[in-house]
Amino acid sequence: MSNLEVLQNRVKELGLKEVSFVKHGAVFTVEEGVRAVNISFEDGVSTLIFKTEKGFVGVHRRDDRKILSNELKKLMGVKSLNMATPEEVKNNFGFTVGAVGVYHPSLKYYMDESLLERKVINGGAGDEFTDIQLAPKDLLTITRGTIGKFTAPSERSVSGKKRILTGDRPTGKMHVGHYMGTLKNRVALQDEYEQFILIANIHALSDNADNPQMVKESILELLCDYYAVGIDFDKSTVYIQSEVPEVHEIFMYLANFTSVQQIMHNPTIKTEIKQNNMEESTPLGFFVYPIHQAADILCVNADLVPVGKDQAPMIEDTREIVRKFNSTYKVKYLHQPEGLYGVATNVPGIDGNSKMGKSLNNAIYLSDSEEVLRKKVFSVYTDPNRKSATDKGTVEGNIAFAYHDLFNEDKQQVEELKRRYREGRIGDVEVKEILFKVMNEFLTPIRERRKVAEGMKEELLRKALEGSKKVRGIARGVADQMKEAMLIKY
Ligand code: ATP
Ligand code: MG
Repeated sequence: MSNLEVLQNRVKELGLKEVSFVKHGAVFTVEEGVRAVNISFEDGVSTLIFKTEKGFVGVHRRDDRKILSNELKKLMGVKSLNMATPEEVKNNFGFTVGAVGVYHPSLKYYMDESLLERKVINGGAGDEFTDIQLAPKDLLTITRGTIGKFTAPSERSVSGKKRILTGDRPTGKMHVGHYMGTLKNRVALQDEYEQFILIANIHALSDNADNPQMVKESILELLCDYYAVGIDFDKSTVYIQSEVPEVHEIFMYLANFTSVQQIMHNPTIKTEIKQNNMEESTPLGFFVYPIHQAADILCVNADLVPVGKDQAPMIEDTREIVRKFNSTYKVKYLHQPEGLYGVATNVPGIDGNSKMGKSLNNAIYLSDSEEVLRKKVFSVYTDPNRKSATDKGTVEGNIAFAYHDLFNEDKQQVEELKRRYREGRIGDVEVKEILFKVMNEFLTPIRERRKVAEGMKEELLRKALEGSKKVRGIARGVADQMKEAMLIKY
C-alpha cells in the first residue's frame, strides 16, 4: 500500500469527515507547495523527520516558523536531534524529501502549538502530487501526536531570497541624493531580494526630541516618496521603527560588543555632532544610534544594506559587532551584512556642502515643482572665482558639473561642456539650463507618481503598519536566538 493510501485509510477508519485530499502538479519545496494550493505560509504544515538516540520521530511545524532545537529536545526528552538524511527518509518510510507526508504509522509525532491557531492546515499527503487539508486537531487524532511549544517566527525567508534592510529618518521629504545613494538600488533589487525598508522615527527623534509633530508628519512624506520612485509596497516590506520594540532589546544585546571610544571615533558621528552643534551636549540617544542601527539590520538578519556613503562606517561597525557576537557565543547565526553604495561619494548639496541632507537646507527634493527646481539649479554653487563666461573655469568641486555627472546620461555632452568650461567658452547659464532640462526630465515622472501617492497616504500607512507586524515577528525570532546563545532564554 502506498503512503497516500495508508493515510486515506486511516482517515476513513477514524471517521474524520472534514478532511480533504487535493491533487496538484508535483511540488518539492514549501514555496511551490504553498503556491500550488494557493494558501499562505501560516496555513502550511511541514513534516520533518528527525533522528534521535531513541529512534526516528516526526515533527509538524507551521511553514512560517522555525524549530528551536533545544526546546524540541526538552519536549522529547532526548540529547541528540538531527534531521534524517534523504536516504533514511526514503529507505525507512518511503517518502521523498520535499514531499514528506503528514503521517506514517511507524513514527511518533510532535506538533507545534502554533498550528492550533489555524482553522485548516495544508500538508503533504504522502506523494508529491497530493495535499491533505484538515483541522489541526484532526491531524493530532491521526498521528496521536504530542503538542509542544518549540518554534519561533522564521528568521529566514521561506522563499530563500537574501534579505535587504535599509531605511530613512522621517525628518523631511526625500531628495535626489537619497535617490542616487539608495532609493535607486532599492527599486532595482526589490524583486531579487526580500526587502525591508525602515522608517526610523526613533532615530529621527534622537536630534528632534522637541519636534515630534514634524517627525510624525514626515513619515507620510517618506511613504509618498517611496511610492513615487517605484517602491512596490507589495514586494518590499515598509515598516515603522517604533512599532518593532524588539529592536531596543537587540540593541542592548549588541551594545556589549562595542565601546564608547569606538563610537566617538566614528567619522559620520563626528561630522553629524558638529553639523548639529551638539559638541557640548550630545543626546545619548543620538550617540548610540550607530549600534541601534546595527540592531535594525539584525532585526531581519539582513544580508545587504543599500545606503549612501555616509553610512559606510555604520556598516563596518555592524559587521564587527556581528563577528564578535558570533565568535563569543560560538554561533554563526548573525549575518555580516554588506553595504551597497549607490554613489562613490555623497551627493553634494546645492550650496557646495559635501552632503545634500534633508536637515541641511541644501536639497533638491523629489517633490520640487518645475519652478522650484529651476530656481535651485540656477543657484547651485559653481566656480566662485569665475566672473565671466570667458574666464577659464574649474569643474572639480563645481556642483553643476557634479550633478551633470550624476543625472546627465549623455556622457559625451558632459565631457564637451566640461571642456568648454575649462577653456572659457561657455557661461554658467548655459551649463545650468541644460542641467535643469536633464533634471526636470528625471523628476517629471516621479512628481506625477507622487501626486497619486498623496491621495493614498492612509493606504500606504496601513501597509507600513502591516509590514511592522511582520517585521516584529521576525525580530522576535532573532532576539530569541540571541537569548539562547547568551543563556538567558527561559
Ligand atoms: P538627515 O539630515 O535628517 O540625517 P539625510 O538626508 O541624511 O537626513 P537619512 O534619512 O539620514 O537622510 O538617510 C537616508 C539614506 O539616504 C541613507 O542611506 C543615507 O546614506 C542616504 N543619503 C542621505 N543623504 C545622501 C546624499 N547626500 N548622498 C547619497 N546618499 C545619501
Ligand atoms: Mg542622515
